[in-house]
Amino acid sequence: MDNFFYKYNDFINFKDWKVGIYTRLSNADMKEDHLKQSESIANQIELLKRFVKFKGWTILKIYIDDGYSGTNFDRPDFKHMIQDIEVGKINVVITKDLSRLGRDYIETGYYIEKYFPTKNVRYIAINDNIDTFDINNTNNDITPFKSVINDTYARDTSKKVRSILMTMALNGKSIKPFQPYGLKKDPTNKNNVLIDEEVSKNVYNIFMMYKNGMTKKEICNYLNEHNISTPLKYKELKSNYYNPNNNKTYKWTNTVVNKILRDRSYVGDLVQHKTTKVNYKINKHIKVDESNQIIIENCFPAIIDRQTFNIVQEILNKQANEWNYKSSAHHLLRGITFCSCGAKITYCKNHNKNFRCICSNYKKYGKKICTNVHLTENDLIDSVLNDLKKIIFSYFTPGRIKIDFNKNSIDRNLLLKLIDKIVINDNEIHIAYKFAFPENS
Ligand SMILES: [Zn+2]
Repeated sequence: MDNFFYKYNDFINFKDWKVGIYTRLSNADMKEDHLKQSESIANQIELLKRFVKFKGWTILKIYIDDGYSGTNFDRPDFKHMIQDIEVGKINVVITKDLSRLGRDYIETGYYIEKYFPTKNVRYIAINDNIDTFDINNTNNDITPFKSVINDTYARDTSKKVRSILMTMALNGKSIKPFQPYGLKKDPTNKNNVLIDEEVSKNVYNIFMMYKNGMTKKEICNYLNEHNISTPLKYKELKSNYYNPNNNKTYKWTNTVVNKILRDRSYVGDLVQHKTTKVNYKINKHIKVDESNQIIIENCFPAIIDRQTFNIVQEILNKQANEWNYKSSAHHLLRGITFCSCGAKITYCKNHNKNFRCICSNYKKYGKKICTNVHLTENDLIDSVLNDLKKIIFSYFTPGRIKIDFNKNSIDRNLLLKLIDKIVINDNEIHIAYKFAFPENS
């Protein structure tokens, strides 16, 4: 191993080299390399120390990013190193090879070709024979090329890891980090799924209540009144998982109940590959179309029988359709009604199946932004009609104009022609009309 050190003998030795050695190991590297161990942090440090000793330089600092991928530069010790370069603490950066610095060729190229030279920092990658201060070293010309190779390697590794996981999924092995509420990992084999007897009865009850005609809201009320831990609360209690969201309430909501009612896991089907990463560089997940998900039926014990599950899906689909129809077509005053905070008024269903007016700011952000409006859609329509009646009767001789004030037959287009804007302020309704009504015509 010592032979390549000699290549550095001719180096210009004009200044006081303050060396920072940088080491990095990602989890993927560990999986790939667990047999040969050559990439281990200890090995990298050992090699770099020998090199620096050979050069007769001193190490000022050792930077270690253990468990960080080379596909980006968002690594704590890399940032420390940059800070130290900024204040002139170090002026040489040495890594075992170029890929330890980074695997993204665009960003790696930026550091080697732009950042280090501007800061007068010498960069050396021992195994790749790169030394940015050695003008005779022809290897520097291949540096950008080498970065491309490292970038490709990261892409390959990411593909490899993915294909291993996909194969496991296809073989009916669970690769989920957490199982859905009501199920748990087999303690003797983490890829097997078992029923979590502690909470599985809650899942069963939710399905039964819904099948027997309770609404999601009623189910939530029942569960909250009986102090049953939500999936999030339970998950935090049982694992080292912690949700950092400050607004979490640990209350059962329609969304949580809906997610359970829609989850095929409860009939024993293993559904995986529901989301996928955009690519190996960006840590963002997108939804996978159901036809491309990996679904293995009857893979583990079921909490719900298939017939019950199918009935529940039918009810859910029917309600979703009704909701879409009603909310899109039947809101007479849609588009012209506003909250005094400026946001649009939207509608949501209350337990009597009536539409309730709700400020869209309140709906999205809660009490901090706006207050709740306590009006049903019917109240609002009544109020608009009464107002219109009063205006019309005060300006026109009753009987001369016929307007149908039957709520079920109001023409939305006519209303849109008459009304400019409706503003709701503390449940008071202010209507602006488009026309100034003529006196006594
Ligand atoms: Zn508002």
